[in-house]
Amino acid sequence: MALRLYDTLTKEKRDFAPIDPHNVRMYVCGPTVYDFAHIGNARPVIVFDVLFRLLRHLYGADHVKYVRNITDVDDKINDRAARDYPGLPLNEAIRKVTEQTEQQFHDDVDALGCLRPTVEPRATEHIGEMRTIIDRLVEGGFAYVAADHVLFSPAAMNAANGVLPRYGALANRSLDEMIAGARVDVAPYKRDATDFVLWKPSKPGEPSWPSPAGITTQGRPGWHIECSAMSWKHLGETFDIHGGGIDLVFPHHENEVAQSCCAFHTERMAQTWMHNGFLQVEGEKMSKSLGNFVTIRELLETEKFGGRKWEGLELRLAMLRTHYRQPIDWTHQNLEEARQALDSWANKIEGIEAVPPSVNLCEALLDDLNTPRAIAELHRLGRAKDYSGLAAGLKLMGLDLASYRSPLTKAVHSAFEKRDRIDALISERTAARVRKDFKESDRIRDELAAMGIAIKDGKDADGKPVTTWEIAR
Ligand code: AMP
Ligand code: ZN
Repeated sequence: MALRLYDTLTKEKRDFAPIDPHNVRMYVCGPTVYDFAHIGNARPVIVFDVLFRLLRHLYGADHVKYVRNITDVDDKINDRAARDYPGLPLNEAIRKVTEQTEQQFHDDVDALGCLRPTVEPRATEHIGEMRTIIDRLVEGGFAYVAADHVLFSPAAMNAANGVLPRYGALANRSLDEMIAGARVDVAPYKRDATDFVLWKPSKPGEPSWPSPAGITTQGRPGWHIECSAMSWKHLGETFDIHGGGIDLVFPHHENEVAQSCCAFHTERMAQTWMHNGFLQVEGEKMSKSLGNFVTIRELLETEKFGGRKWEGLELRLAMLRTHYRQPIDWTHQNLEEARQALDSWANKIEGIEAVPPSVNLCEALLDDLNTPRAIAELHRLGRAKDYSGLAAGLKLMGLDLASYRSPLTKAVHSAFEKRDRIDALISERTAARVRKDFKESDRIRDELAAMGIAIKDGKDADGKPVTTWEIAR
């Protein structure tokens, strides 16, 4: 069975055929680094990690290139830097904010069992590519300079003949609809309300670079151009898969397509467009004002959600229990059930060698990443006592339980460890009594008492001295 993926552009599930099976290429829009990632941000990271693992399984680990960018130039970053480091020059403060946030992001997604992408390019390291694309767009008549800005004109794109796609095709909107829906306070330098920014002037003190298109003042890029530049640099003019959350379809991805296709005269930027659905919390939109906003870090390290700390793999499994295109309702119940499942699987596969994953499991993932069906198959394998199949399935889905100790199992382990320690202390005390070292034997009795253990000296059936213990009451 072939891999079939749902494509947002054509609105259908299609057989996936890479442009070059020796170099399968995927781009996913990554984080803007100014604050801790929330659990909604974790969804595309986890979903596309499953796809990355599946592609590596199908085409070989060395034949898949996964690029996920880091947006390190943005107003939100500037605001945060000025707020958190008021004493520092803005550029230095920005570097502190972005480096620290990038580290936090990596720690969080590592805990979720996600592989690092092949390349994680930073926007600020690709300004040259952005300028090149912008120059081409101006030369091609798709963009124009006004008030030290460079603006892209969707109307010019749709007026051009040739292979280009229609602006609005990805989001399934017409340009007329968009013009009608545009806000009234359109910037005066725009020819049309739907024109969007490729490049803009920097305010004094803000990060700035030499501008493209003959503009003599320094400036900075708009958001959409970053992804066109980074995907071009690392994956080429056209590539296989482009992904992100559903909120990015418009305007971000629509504008990426416009920029890349017009700059390179191509029909398509990516062969397949994939978008994950949104996450809501206990039936409500996640927002700071509702107080249900929760970061990955808070779930891992505090008891803010459901009164417990959660393990990264529990978050991962809870996320994958819903198909990636469906909205997900993030609940305590869901996490609790994920914990129970992982706990039972971890005990089953301890010391078990993984074999190639089962046909059923592969077929589920090949069918547009049907992870709920794949998880049902994991349960079936567990019930059927096919533990090597279970181990293989877990591995393919990035649920590596080697280091997973659920809090349920941890409680059992600590009881066993305590028991071993009690037995060892009792033997030491018996030896001390044999050599009549009563000071030591009393010390050990006190140590056990401090552990909440009461001991009783008696005789066994043969009349030999024996020490028993119980939990002190
Ligand atoms: P942002 O930093 O807001 O650009 O988001 C980074 C990624 O997380 C994008 O792919 C977004 O689509 C995705 N994302 C943001 N919020 C949510 C949410 N509540 N549920 C699912 N995905 C989200
Ligand atoms: Zn992007």
